[in-house]
Amino acid sequence: MTTLIRAARLADGLSTSSQPNQAVLISDGRILAVGPADTIASQTPPDTETIDLGDATLTPGLIDGHTHLSLAGDGHSYVEMFSESDEMMVLTGAYNLRRHLDAGITTLREHGARNKVGFAIKEALSRGYIAGPRMQVSGRPITCSGGHFHMCNEVADGPDEIRRSVRRLVHEGADYIKIMTSGGGTAGTLPGRASYSVEELHAVVHEAHHFHRLTAAHCRAKESMVRAVAAGIDLMEHAEFLDPDHEMRFDPDLAEKMAECGIWISPTLQAWTNYGRIVDLEQKRDRGELSPAAASQLQALSDRAEKRLDIMRRMLDYCRIDRIVPGTDSGVGSLAFGHLDYDLRLLVKVGFTPGEALLSATRISAEAIDMADELGTIEPGKIADLAAFKGDPTKDVLALSDVAAVFQAGVRVR
Ligand SMILES: [Zn+2]
Repeated sequence: MTTLIRAARLADGLSTSSQPNQAVLISDGRILAVGPADTIASQTPPDTETIDLGDATLTPGLIDGHTHLSLAGDGHSYVEMFSESDEMMVLTGAYNLRRHLDAGITTLREHGARNKVGFAIKEALSRGYIAGPRMQVSGRPITCSGGHFHMCNEVADGPDEIRRSVRRLVHEGADYIKIMTSGGGTAGTLPGRASYSVEELHAVVHEAHHFHRLTAAHCRAKESMVRAVAAGIDLMEHAEFLDPDHEMRFDPDLAEKMAECGIWISPTLQAWTNYGRIVDLEQKRDRGELSPAAASQLQALSDRAEKRLDIMRRMLDYCRIDRIVPGTDSGVGSLAFGHLDYDLRLLVKVGFTPGEALLSATRISAEAIDMADELGTIEPGKIADLAAFKGDPTKDVLALSDVAAVFQAGVRVR
């Protein structure tokens, strides 16, 4: 079965610009050829199905490296969300998968759920019971006694317990290892304090790499960022430069070390800035429907967001943009699924071009999660996970909010 997809433009995930009048030929779920539409059409076997997307831009499917599928992202607190049963969390995950897929996200990382919920969602997906993006699952995040996300039930203190946790998670099916190296939004934890010593983080890196698993570390505290770099963690989440007094203070020495060691960085800008709420309020403002109270809320949120974006801009003076990946943190708080586009808008606000933002969500994210052999670009041999957007997202990042089509292994799913 071969399929030919034609589009007015194509951004292949290799360059930051799009090419006009392109086509992709797909056979058995993989890309056979890509290039100018007329050239590709002339190589097409007679019984090929043709899909013409018209005035849209075809791109690699987007990758979201940070989600919590089992959480509803409907504004409830962690305590309320974690009062749900595991069964309801699995169903929440099935619902959330569909929302992400419809937004052009064809691969995601499930970054920590309770008990076996994350594994169950992935199993249901792989059996074809539910639809959704391709999944890498961490299972449960490793955390210290009383630490962030301790309610997921993978508490480990000291190098020996951490090694045991890695072994247990790998045995249960973890594709990578997530560890909480500072406090976070969980009540009673301290976001500005590191949770683990360098020795403990060495243990997680060593044991995970022994099983060919990458590590991703939740690092809000500056001290936890320093230790993650020292221990050789593969990917740093959040990177807020938070001090124990809960103030963010940029540290150029630390940023230089992060750049030198080449650690992947996922700044989760949407999550920190509550950007979805900002977008809602801005839309109301543009329609002339903003109450005075809502107007002052928008101002306060925007001022607060600017502080975080400024830290990010300063980090970009040191860190290479091709080590930075977007991640939504969907599920947490009021972060609803389906909005990787918001993180990409924020990357543009801190200095990425729209084309660079698109690369970060495709090829660079595929590299960061070690799937670049199969995903992330539109090249012969790769899996045909594709998205299409109205307009040209390499010129206007807002185009990424207007999905025209989604394909998984060559099959149109939207
Ligand atoms: Zn998270």
